[in-house]
Amino acid sequence: MDFSLTEEHKLIEKAAKDFGFREISPTIKENDAKNYFDKSILKKLGDAGFLGICIPKKYGGQGADYISLGLVCQGLERVDSSLRVIMSVHTGLNSLALLQWGTEEQKKKYLIPQAKGEKIAGFGLTEPNAGSDVMNIQATAKKEGDFYILNGEKTWISLADVADNFLVFAKMGEKVSAFIVERSFKGFSSSSIHGKLGMRAGNTGSISFQDLKVPKENLLGKEGDGIKIALSAIDSGRFTVAAGAVGLIEACLEESVIYAKQREAFGKEIGKHELVQQMIGKMAASLEVGKLLVYKAGWLKNEGMRNTKETSLAKWVNCNNAFDSANDAIQIFGAYGYSNEFNVERYFRNSRGAVIYEGTREIHTILQAEYALGYREDKPLSNPLPAYPSE
Ligand SMILES: Cc1cc2nc3c(=O)[nH]c(=O)nc-3n(C[C@H](O)[C@H](O)[C@H](O)COP(=O)(O)OP(=O)(O)OC[C@H]3O[C@@H](n4cnc5c(N)ncnc54)[C@H](O)[C@@H]3O)c2cc1C
Repeated sequence: MDFSLTEEHKLIEKAAKDFGFREISPTIKENDAKNYFDKSILKKLGDAGFLGICIPKKYGGQGADYISLGLVCQGLERVDSSLRVIMSVHTGLNSLALLQWGTEEQKKKYLIPQAKGEKIAGFGLTEPNAGSDVMNIQATAKKEGDFYILNGEKTWISLADVADNFLVFAKMGEKVSAFIVERSFKGFSSSSIHGKLGMRAGNTGSISFQDLKVPKENLLGKEGDGIKIALSAIDSGRFTVAAGAVGLIEACLEESVIYAKQREAFGKEIGKHELVQQMIGKMAASLEVGKLLVYKAGWLKNEGMRNTKETSLAKWVNCNNAFDSANDAIQIFGAYGYSNEFNVERYFRNSRGAVIYEGTREIHTILQAEYALGYREDKPLSNPLPAYPSE
């Protein structure tokens, strides 16, 4: 068993972290306060090669492995969660689903520009009346000649107002199918959600389809494959969220350690008070546990092995721990932690969302309990994500 990162892994992690500190840190407080999504960051992420990090070179990516994808997410979320969310939807939920399920034509037309960062991608599954209960989605698709006609609304969609392409799920009778939808298609509209608790420097909104004509070539997989596609995409999305949470825990730990050594109370650094140490110790443990869970899930992905259970566990545990770490970080900072003078207040608000999206805490609890009880078992997929390295 080898737990070490390669030199390439270390460079990738450092590059992502440096990118965050260079490109995001100087403006994040202001952007977060103004609920401003800085679109220029998308091109910079693309130019840095992050958006296609684990996409094979022949499809315009960097050809790195899935651990590298995790390290990019970890490095970016060390600075701000909204930056990692871009990776989660563009690369995790959309581009990897195209790699897994797309035809060669679809990969040429959509995956290559997305891997290069020339086009930005989103993922539209959630609806106003259907989140965890995906089978309850109401958006419809009807085949008419060479087109599918889509009607419906998706909400809480990351990058709703900025992505060029979306992977969208709609019902054909009782079955769900997946479609590649371009913003430019007639009948597409989007709007932003305002008043979010966190992720304020990110873009989240709704997308709607009114008699939207999707060419039949844009059906992903076969008719009725939608749920399989959504669940496999979510295996990748959850992995990026789990890895990002490690970055957030790291941020809480590093910044709490600095503060705990500067602030004094009762004649000594607060870091020397045992109850403060308890919080720091818990963060340190969460960081190590988080890395191990992500590396294991990433290794399974590299091997082309089913990782639904391990990825769910990593996402569940790491997002809970990130939220607890941010909560404790505020406690360590005392009243200062309660204002946006320090980052921990933002980490706290941002970390709350990840306990909801990509499977709520309750859904992951149920999944893990069902695996333990033997009510649920993962079988190898007939069409897995390509192992690393893929040709
Ligand atoms: C910042 C942000 C970004 C997002 N980005 C995207 C995106 O890009 N694309 C996308 O498609 N979606 C996105 N989402 C939506 C997200 O995936 C959903 O919010 C999530 O799936 C939960 O669905 P819901 O909010 O409808 O809650 P519901 O499913 O209505 O759940 C409400 C509550 O009931 C609980 N509950 C539900 N079912 C059960 C059960 N069987 N047993 C016990 N408890 C249960 C839940 O755990 C939760 O506590 C985003 C959400 C947020 C907050």
